[in-house]
Amino acid sequence: MSKQRYDVLFLGGGTSCGYAAAAFRERDKESTVAIVTAEDQPPYDRPPLSKKFIVREDFVPEDIHAKDPSFYKDNNIDLFLQERIAQLDAESREVVLESGHRLEYGKALYALGSSPIEIPELLQGESATLRTTQDGLKIRRQLAGAKTVAIVGGGYIGAEAAAALLDKGLAVTIVERGPHLWSRFESREVAQALHAYLEQRGARILVNTTAVERKPGVLVTSDGNEVPADFVLLGVGARPNLDVARAAGLEMGESGVQANSNLRTSDERIWVAGDVAEYPDVVCGRTVRIEHHLHAKWTGEKAGAALAGETSAYRRVPYFFSDVGELSMILRGDPRPDHQVFTFGDPREPLISQVFLDPGGIVRGFIDLRKDYKAQEPLDEMFEQMILAQKNLSDRIEDLQKPSFDLLDLNG
Ligand SMILES: Cc1cc2nc3c(=O)[nH]c(=O)nc-3n(C[C@H](O)[C@H](O)[C@H](O)COP(=O)(O)OP(=O)(O)OC[C@H]3O[C@@H](n4cnc5c(N)ncnc54)[C@H](O)[C@@H]3O)c2cc1C
Repeated sequence: MSKQRYDVLFLGGGTSCGYAAAAFRERDKESTVAIVTAEDQPPYDRPPLSKKFIVREDFVPEDIHAKDPSFYKDNNIDLFLQERIAQLDAESREVVLESGHRLEYGKALYALGSSPIEIPELLQGESATLRTTQDGLKIRRQLAGAKTVAIVGGGYIGAEAAAALLDKGLAVTIVERGPHLWSRFESREVAQALHAYLEQRGARILVNTTAVERKPGVLVTSDGNEVPADFVLLGVGARPNLDVARAAGLEMGESGVQANSNLRTSDERIWVAGDVAEYPDVVCGRTVRIEHHLHAKWTGEKAGAALAGETSAYRRVPYFFSDVGELSMILRGDPRPDHQVFTFGDPREPLISQVFLDPGGIVRGFIDLRKDYKAQEPLDEMFEQMILAQKNLSDRIEDLQKPSFDLLDLNG
């Protein structure tokens, strides 16, 4: 079988790899570089998949590509599409593809992302999980002619998809194991407001129950409900793709590939980024593994710079966003259960802002839900700076306790 050699290989070809390859090329124009992915698309951004992509026929995969197709050619980045990595031999620095092709490398980025959790007995008939553009296109095809949809799992993908499907005029039922939507989210107030919003929009939400069986046109729940379902979307979470790294002997953390704060693994020639990376985060002050878009982008950019020789620590304020219908939610930093929480706004609008202080009074997190995302931007920027600077707000507690306090006054 054929063999090629590259100075740098970007393994996975998803969000992190796209931004990593671009960041690397900005710094190094000479090294030979390739991206390897199991998918049929070059790197792209996944967030639109659960928002517009599944319901808009005019939306094509190219619309969410991270870079123009000419970018890879112009920058001498070879693309291996639809090539699944079977093995990573860290000792001989070689990647074996399922096609039998072998690629040798000098350095590599391991960014294989996550795969959706599958429940085979529910993935029968018209049904799907959602991770890729192929999944999105399949969902669109299966929705043609459908009137009723059941969504298993009320996390952010389930809630975003529900809003999009309601917009399309479908009857949507969400089956959620917890007491309300987003039941594992850091803010119960925001989770409950999203739940109420989707119910107002017409979603039927069944809580404290699980889906157990798929029959033609129906989804059966553990408490005996028969939910009408021409189509079933399974959105019960994802697991990081660690098998190839584990088999290669890379040191593992609790739930990801262990790396240092520069995102370098136990193998000094391999870095990680995105969903698989577990590392000591200097902003959060603890070891983390994060599954969010901007995290994948930023750790990708950092890893790309590290592959080109930069040795500093990754230092960004974590950022999770979700758009559910007209609502925009942002989470900045690292809100924790032992933090003191100050809540502003009116959940009925809904408009909720929450500030999280650690026991020493230092700002650690900010969560905001509202319709007017433009009004969110200055708050987002202000809290990003405060969290980065570890701003102590002990002397502003009195202000924070006033429900009418304007948070932007913290700038003063
Ligand atoms: C539908 C959807 C909506 C989302 N919306 C949001 C959002 O609104 N906000 C937010 O913050 N985050 C969102 N996310 C999360 C975010 O997209 C991910 O955290 C991000 O894509 C992770 O990037 P990554 O590079 O680690 O992995 P991925 O982007 O998943 O890339 C990994 C790539 O590796 C490939 N691969 C895996 N195994 C192999 C193998 N053996 N051989 C070759 N290739 C392989 C995969 O096919 C994939 O292309 C969303 C995710 C999904 C699925």
